[in-house]
Amino acid sequence: MKVRVGHLYPDYLNIYADRGNIAVFDRRAALRGHELEVTPISIGDEVFAGEHDLLYIGGGQDREQALVAPDLVGKAPGIEAAVAGGTALLAVCGGYQLLGRGYLGRHGDSMPGVGLFPHETVAGERRMIGDVLLECELEPGERRALAGFENHAGRTRLDPGAEALGRVVAGFGNDGESGYEGVRVGRAIGTYLHGPLLPRNPWLADWLLAQALAHATGGEPPELEPLPDRLEAEAHAVSAQRARDRGGRF
Ligand code: GLN
Repeated sequence: MKVRVGHLYPDYLNIYADRGNIAVFDRRAALRGHELEVTPISIGDEVFAGEHDLLYIGGGQDREQALVAPDLVGKAPGIEAAVAGGTALLAVCGGYQLLGRGYLGRHGDSMPGVGLFPHETVAGERRMIGDVLLECELEPGERRALAGFENHAGRTRLDPGAEALGRVVAGFGNDGESGYEGVRVGRAIGTYLHGPLLPRNPWLADWLLAQALAHATGGEPPELEPLPDRLEAEAHAVSAQRARDRGGRF
């Protein structure tokens, strides 16, 4: 199969090597005989529902976020229609913030958001920095650990009843208080975890790939053939241990 990926603002939002997540999708798709076709979507480009099986947006500093936010809001109808139609989506940090209702940045910049995710973000005085460990349950009964690195001033408050990506085992998470991290809306996932996220969490890469394949085929998410993932498991273990050792408070 061909998996069509739309990469939003690769030229603006790519902090902490977030584009490494695309390399992971590409390789893991190829090892299962699928081809990833990645199209950059930047300022002035439109998003049409149905054109992408997976949308991806990375993180950035407030400055880059402010540069893309007005344009991103113009893409809101296309992004919302795409996700409603079963397109998978991964949003990291700055992109995660901008897919909510809005972000009030550290220097008072009020950035409008897409409104796909049920949250709002306001920057606080102290940055929340360090390794993070989460417990996630994207499929009922299947608990998985997610490890990564966070560095954000934004405090993201989920609306009551919103589904978080995971529960914080160590680290700050959405706001340093709620005990939750990230958000999930159907096949769309938002998170603060960088590092990049997917090389050390291949199970999430495969979950997203399977959702993207389901969109491509119009069927159910396929069972993907397991890969050895020895280095990935080591990277995960190191990252998870660092998070546990640190605890995750100021
Ligand atoms: N600029 C945002 C914040 O500080 C996002 C940072 C990031 O993408 N790492 O909260």
